[in-house]
Amino acid sequence: MEIFGSSGVRGIVGETLTPGEAVQVAQAAGAVLDADRAAVARDTRRTGDMFVDAAASGLASVGCDVDKVGIVPTPALQAYCESEAVPGVMVTASHNPPEFNGIKLVGSDGVELTSDDLGRVETRLHADQSLAGWDETGESRRVEGVRRSYREQLLAAVDRERVADADVTVALDPGHGAGALTSPEFLAALGCTVKTVNAQPDGRFPGRNPEPVESALGDLRALVRATDADLGVAHDGDADRAMFVDETGSHVEGAAAFAALAAAELGADDTLVSAVNVSQRLVDVADRVGASVELTPIGSTYIITAIRELAAAGETVPVAGESNGGIFFPGYRLARDGAYTAARFLELVAERPASEAVAPYDDYHNVRENLTYESEQERAAMVEAVQTEADESDAVVDTTDGYRLDFGDAWVLARPSGTEPVVRVYAEAREESRASALCARVVERVTDARAGVRR
Ligand code: MG
Repeated sequence: MEIFGSSGVRGIVGETLTPGEAVQVAQAAGAVLDADRAAVARDTRRTGDMFVDAAASGLASVGCDVDKVGIVPTPALQAYCESEAVPGVMVTASHNPPEFNGIKLVGSDGVELTSDDLGRVETRLHADQSLAGWDETGESRRVEGVRRSYREQLLAAVDRERVADADVTVALDPGHGAGALTSPEFLAALGCTVKTVNAQPDGRFPGRNPEPVESALGDLRALVRATDADLGVAHDGDADRAMFVDETGSHVEGAAAFAALAAAELGADDTLVSAVNVSQRLVDVADRVGASVELTPIGSTYIITAIRELAAAGETVPVAGESNGGIFFPGYRLARDGAYTAARFLELVAERPASEAVAPYDDYHNVRENLTYESEQERAAMVEAVQTEADESDAVVDTTDGYRLDFGDAWVLARPSGTEPVVRVYAEAREESRASALCARVVERVTDARAGVRR
């Protein structure tokens, strides 16, 4: 049983993820991280309390005291872990629908565990746990004020005056997630006028699903138009991501926002770290200033590992991340942070309208499709079909994670997800028709292979 995917443990509650598993993961993590104290936090999901209790129980059973910090964004837990020098357990399924939950593990440096460390926890899971005696089990305490100190750290890290002087109105959609409890106050403290939608914390996510994709953000686009806001900001369930709507109420593609932020950050000799689904827009930004691009498998742990390796080799990585709104500014913290990312984007909006800030990066089209599978045979046949397509094409093929077929002016990537039973197909080109055609060709081949297994 391999229970850690690319972003920790994730599953449908009661089906593929149980409290019993959370106890085991917490026991193994407590033992591997050799902690005598750890923090446990959650997002707003209905099942959050149940998994917090399970994780706390697992930690206590191996002799680890527990700080229960309540409902906070993942980056707020990371900030707490760093300042207290304790590891952390984050109960969240990030952008997944309400029936999911999961666990992310954070080291005592406030950084998500690397895939190597997750591997050690995974190995430990399958070993016999040595439990603490009755007089050595851990004790739990409730810790208040974690959200407030997180907001204070954020405020100290951004150019508050620049944003405040611009007198910006922000429309915010935290999607009923953990950011509902931190981002409204943070943005107001930055000097913005803040209008909100879907801003009550609610783990049933009545207003929209936690994934801040274009199809889920109709409420936010309407709010931007209705309030004449300068920018719309949306988070995922644990608020480590930020997506944007411009002042006209139009969706800003994640890749365009990432490119605008990267262009403001990157200089010659810097390195941009991203995953194999990186947009050509980012490659263009790096080329223009003479920076290099380093690609990793998809998943934040791989990006973190690459940033650390580059830093150890003396390279500077001022910005990294993916086009889903999950962006690292390693000079601030080695963590994705939706509120910090929003603040950095507001610094751009302080100078020019959001639509103008992203206009130079708006000239590509992305399409993406998810193809589900129901068995390991289906998955294998689908991956084999992608390999055949790669072998037969005249593209440059990158197999860092799945198959990325690069045609110079356009690319298509197909890979099995690390968190869900789907094969994802992504394509990008300057013309929408070309991106769609590239995607459709792979999708057809993969669905044919799947149908072959189902027959
Ligand atoms: Mg997230």
